[in-house]
Amino acid sequence: MQAHEENVWKATLGIAEAYLAAEAGGACLDARTPEQLLAEVPFGLPEEGLALEDWVDRLKQVMAATPSSSSPRFVNQLFGGRIPEAVAADMLALLANSSMYTFKAAGAQVLVEQAVLGRLLTAAGMSGGEGSFVPGGSAANLAAMLMARNRAVPASRDSGMGGVRGTVYTSVESHYSIRKNAGILGLGRKHVRLIPVTGDGRMDVPALDAAIAADLRNGFVPVLVNATAGTTVRGAFDDIAATGAVAHKYGVWLHVDGALGATVLLSPKWQHLMEGLAAADSLAWNPHKMMGLALQTSVVLVREQGLLAGSLDETADYLFQSHADDFNPGHRSLLCGRRNDALRLWSAWCRIGDRGWEQRVDRQMALAAYAAERIRVGPQLALLEPPPLINVCFNRVGVPAEAVCTALDRYGEIKIGYGQVGETTGIRLVCANPEIGEAGIDVILEACLKVEV
Ligand SMILES: *Cc1c(COP(=O)(O)O)cnc(C)c1O
Repeated sequence: MQAHEENVWKATLGIAEAYLAAEAGGACLDARTPEQLLAEVPFGLPEEGLALEDWVDRLKQVMAATPSSSSPRFVNQLFGGRIPEAVAADMLALLANSSMYTFKAAGAQVLVEQAVLGRLLTAAGMSGGEGSFVPGGSAANLAAMLMARNRAVPASRDSGMGGVRGTVYTSVESHYSIRKNAGILGLGRKHVRLIPVTGDGRMDVPALDAAIAADLRNGFVPVLVNATAGTTVRGAFDDIAATGAVAHKYGVWLHVDGALGATVLLSPKWQHLMEGLAAADSLAWNPHKMMGLALQTSVVLVREQGLLAGSLDETADYLFQSHADDFNPGHRSLLCGRRNDALRLWSAWCRIGDRGWEQRVDRQMALAAYAAERIRVGPQLALLEPPPLINVCFNRVGVPAEAVCTALDRYGEIKIGYGQVGETTGIRLVCANPEIGEAGIDVILEACLKVEV
């Protein structure tokens, strides 16, 4: 068994080396269509197990056809880049294959998770609170919305909504998970009030106030106000303090969706963007975005202890058999079995330190400012707005954003996306991967200008 495992590891390192070499050479954005890949890559599963070399060959083919999100030419998503110490820790986490529900099953990994959650809570100014790792920002928002629903309609956890019409408030430019979650939670997607934004993409606070007041007059029960810290397309920050003041005026839960933007809390220079967070009951934060960790590294943080368990705990004699509840995070989780998402963050933090995260955020912001300035002064490119965060939205003059992005993808040059900025559709360049550097940004902008559409 041991020799077998060693051989597999050695072969896998070979596959990884080939992948890293291809990535360094820029040959990591395979431009083949799904139809071509289906014809050229052996996806079918064999009846008899393959020999090791053939297995290696198949994995290599699949990896060669997989876009690398760490490529300097991948700016399609809100994440990018790789922290080797985090990837290594992930591999070690797989060796132990812990399920993070109990100390009995996961041992020290539970304490690692507690250390990380404690540090994130401190960064958020919620050190008396609690947190839970969740599979993504959508799930972090789900957990927050569940707690808010149970606070606003206490019978709902056991008996359902019983005809109560609970409403949720979020800006029209917030993440779609708010609406999706309202559907999941039995609140109803129609009961999500999409509040308009001002010209800079921030929730219109007087409009929020008016919407809540109107709903109260009409017999609705406001459940949650969501302020987005870093909207998905534009990176806009809602005014958390003003939003919180309205939420509290009506006694409504304030959640901050900081899936993208909460990482600025780690930079003294940029944490002012999160001003007003002291008013929040809960915060969603995706370290897998600006902190450069693998998906999914996401947490939901809650100011008050006990609320996660109040909405998520179940008794299970077959699972919770020893140690205090504090050391059994399964009591506070959306999931039962749960993979270890904490070790990679802890491992990266040990190497990078508070100082390193601060520098990383400052660098990402500087790169976004650089890109914005290049676009502003360059001919044939139009900056749509000064970037509030790391998202730089622009257009190639006279060419639809969609055409530019699709052509760059078709030629396997660059993966970059587009989105809606007010009335305009713009190309969205996300400076999540600090390794891209100024030179990489120049390459991307040049390609946007030159690509044949
Ligand atoms: C990315 C994002 C989410 C969703 O996070 P996932 O991890 O993809 O589920 C939620 N809100 C905002 C503002 C985001 O940018």
